[in-house]
Amino acid sequence: MKKFVKPAGLALAFAIVSISFLACGKEKNDSLKLRNVGKYEQSMTKDAAAQMEKELGAFEITAEQRELAKENIAGYKVIDAGRGNPNWINTKARFAFTRFMNFALSECQRTLNNGDMAGHADKNGIGERFDKSMNPSDKTDAFRIKAIDYCVKNLNMNKDEIVYELLNGIIGDFYPSPSRCLKNTEVILNHYLESVLYNGNKLADQTLVLPTEGGSAAMCYIFHTLSHNKLLRPGDKIAIATPIFTPYLQIPSVNNYGLVSINGSSEDKNNWDISEKELEKLESKEIKAFFLVNPSNPASHALSDATLKRLEEVVKKNPNLIILTDDVYGTFVDSFETVYSRIPHNTILVYSFSKLYGATGWRIGLIATNKDNVMDELLSKLPKKDMDALNKEYSIVTTEPESMKFIDRVAADSRSIGLYHTSGLSTPSQIFMDLIALTNLVEGEKDPYIEQSNELVRQRYLTLMNELHLPADASNENARYYTLIDVNEVIKKNYDENFANWKIANKTDIQFLNDLAKKKGVVLMYGPGFDAQQGTVRISLANNNAEDYKELARRLFELLDEYHAEYSAE
Ligand SMILES: *Cc1c(COP(=O)(O)O)cnc(C)c1O
Repeated sequence: MKKFVKPAGLALAFAIVSISFLACGKEKNDSLKLRNVGKYEQSMTKDAAAQMEKELGAFEITAEQRELAKENIAGYKVIDAGRGNPNWINTKARFAFTRFMNFALSECQRTLNNGDMAGHADKNGIGERFDKSMNPSDKTDAFRIKAIDYCVKNLNMNKDEIVYELLNGIIGDFYPSPSRCLKNTEVILNHYLESVLYNGNKLADQTLVLPTEGGSAAMCYIFHTLSHNKLLRPGDKIAIATPIFTPYLQIPSVNNYGLVSINGSSEDKNNWDISEKELEKLESKEIKAFFLVNPSNPASHALSDATLKRLEEVVKKNPNLIILTDDVYGTFVDSFETVYSRIPHNTILVYSFSKLYGATGWRIGLIATNKDNVMDELLSKLPKKDMDALNKEYSIVTTEPESMKFIDRVAADSRSIGLYHTSGLSTPSQIFMDLIALTNLVEGEKDPYIEQSNELVRQRYLTLMNELHLPADASNENARYYTLIDVNEVIKKNYDENFANWKIANKTDIQFLNDLAKKKGVVLMYGPGFDAQQGTVRISLANNNAEDYKELARRLFELLDEYHAEYSAE
């Protein structure tokens, strides 16, 4: 972002922030909009432009396929396994949210009750009134009692304070304060992250949290602040573990960074781990940042323990490496451990509630960094000229800009610094995140909801693989939220090699996907668009029921049989 000038500069600042937003967010629309950012396109390297063209193509194709599928020749009901939006939701947190809203409203009416107008809730004695309003034999109330008990007993919170924070937050009658994250909310979210992502490591007390409008906003904010604060400069090399969620491939291109692809698909098809040869690349001090989705999207695999250990070694050789990990699928792997848990000093963690809790419309996610981290260290070592300029900018909002932490800069930058005092995620959204987190925390070791979600996608995955006659990958690292299928493997397994070669020579990947949509009403995603190898398709296991995957496989074979007839006729 350009130097902050007020007040005329404000519009400019917003414009620049919004450009970086275009690279994220909703898959299709925003990717397409990038086309119009002419200035950025011109300044891109040829490779980056070609890369982007490829990705835009992938999204345009999927959009086109959706249209084709609607009017498919067979007249089938559309099966769209392209999207990652889950077809389930969590009810416990939503029921609790509604009840807390009702209780909060009655509390507000205690201080002023005149027609449609009420006052602010009164903190005094609010915990006691909460207890009195509970019906312990009701399922939702039983959870609410447990949740508040957990906060008081396990997290050492004052009952009036936590109930008041939840109520006030839900009502939304105050600006978020502290603006980065509400006080008790930060503790709850930290314990949730510790519970689901750290595999037993205790980091809750040493981690800072910034709730954001989903994981995509988190990524945009982080990249913006890294660049604005000169921790990444144009031309700097960034390593990205590929294949990866397409919009993420675009962020570095838009910002003009040099891209180094770290191939996450090794020769062994069943092993999606990063090979030693690839990991070695990260040891070069030229690489300033390493960006990964873990468990990955589209391959849906978590890094192995051995790779995590190897990454710890990498960071010893490249101690200033900034690792950015998006762990939105972490809970879909048993005993998952995030890179942040192993390398807290170097890692920025992004998490989102979108997938597991069926909450994509809420836009709720977060950024977490360690209190002691390499970004803050690098900020303190910036060249004097850069530091002076940044200190001047942040002095609008703090008297000690030089000691302003990276994560607080992210919060400030998210409102173009000048409007820092109005930064922070909406309080009802923060409280909804608390309630979700508490559904997990009150369960202790095993969370039945998480187990249920894992079982759900596992059954879908097994059904699909069984129907396609492909070996199922039973490794613990397999998250099974998506699967990346090599169509040529399917052909080889179910027909023969000659037919597979004929298909490669006569039907492009796109043609195949178009035929599947147009003739059979099935929408899948184009693997190479994620930087995965030719011939692959991503099938989402999140948005259809098991029997739909059976039908999907049947239709796929129906199309392949038609291809086979063509091949035989030749
Ligand atoms: C779906 C997804 C997210 C979630 O993004 P939100 O903005 O929180 O909805 C984040 N990262 C990846 C890789 C995803 O696939």
